[in-house]
Amino acid sequence: MRKFKFLIAIACLLSSASFAFNLKNEVKVKKLPTYIIENTSYLSLKSFLKVMNMEDSWGKIDDRIFIIFSNSEIKFRVGDKKLIFADTEKTLVAPIKEIEGEILIPLDDFSVIFSGVEPSSNPGRSERKESSVSDSIYNKDRELAVLIDPGHGGSDAGAIGNYGLKEKDVNLDVALRMADYLKKTLKKYPHIRLYMTRNTDTFITLEDRVQMSRDIKAEVFFSIHTNSSRDRRYDVSGFETYYPRSKASESNLPAPSNIEGLEEDLNPGTPLFGILEELNQTDVLDESRILADFVQERMAERLLTPDRGTKRRNFYVLKFTPVTSVLTEIGFICNPNIELNLRDTEVREAIAETLGNALIDYLHFKGALPKTALK
Ligand SMILES: [Zn+2]
Repeated sequence: MRKFKFLIAIACLLSSASFAFNLKNEVKVKKLPTYIIENTSYLSLKSFLKVMNMEDSWGKIDDRIFIIFSNSEIKFRVGDKKLIFADTEKTLVAPIKEIEGEILIPLDDFSVIFSGVEPSSNPGRSERKESSVSDSIYNKDRELAVLIDPGHGGSDAGAIGNYGLKEKDVNLDVALRMADYLKKTLKKYPHIRLYMTRNTDTFITLEDRVQMSRDIKAEVFFSIHTNSSRDRRYDVSGFETYYPRSKASESNLPAPSNIEGLEEDLNPGTPLFGILEELNQTDVLDESRILADFVQERMAERLLTPDRGTKRRNFYVLKFTPVTSVLTEIGFICNPNIELNLRDTEVREAIAETLGNALIDYLHFKGALPKTALK
């Protein structure tokens, strides 16, 4: 044990005094978990991104992974032994793996490729957002359409609480309040156009919701839902926001496979998109994740329920809308205390303002609103 500590101390010294970055040393010093598969040591992609300071600049489309790294790009795919870094193809000794949704990279190979490469100087998420805001040029003449989507409606009630509160009604009321709040707050910025998939209690198919976003050329699709756990647990609580795992651009929309609209990517062999489209997708997926982060941050500031985080999942409306899209679950209607809260108009108003502010954060980030507009 003493010997082991000593080794770690040496590794620390080496890394702090080192002239060049060494991935293997970093993994040791930071005590990141590695996995031995077929005699090869693997590191999770998550750990790699963390060490390299790139947690917010990557995307995954089907089995392909893209990482934006100081103006160049790193690309590889699950099952493959090829990696492209800064337009140069590298051959790996061991393949990239994916086990239970976790992407694993061969540590030796990556150490060789990234030895001497300085980790991204990008200091973190919030600062990156700030710098992107000042980088984008605010253009008040460019119209930007936002489509707010209250989930369910009409014959589709969505989840129903123990005392009879219906998800469809909560979603609609919160969405209407959010739109009102935005209209009021963004009065001076008519170039931000707000649309709703429904503003009454009507049934609208998932295909129609997606089609609407395409017809009005929405740049943001913002879906509002209320949660229920599968076994309707009383004590489950919190808010969470989903963003898409991938996008699909079929012009003929397929029928959703179930009423919830949850489509998992069961078919990894779908035809690959053109490179350009992939890059655009990476942007859209990245930006969806950024908007989802804003939603969770704002909600965490305002609500007392637990922050369950952002999650990647291909709900139908997230997968088929071609733009930045999120689906937020504002609370668990199956929890009787939360159901009671969700009946309260003040709570609904607070949630609506919170969602509105998260959207405004995103519009700032996009340069669609001047930085000082709301201060
Ligand atoms: Zn729902």
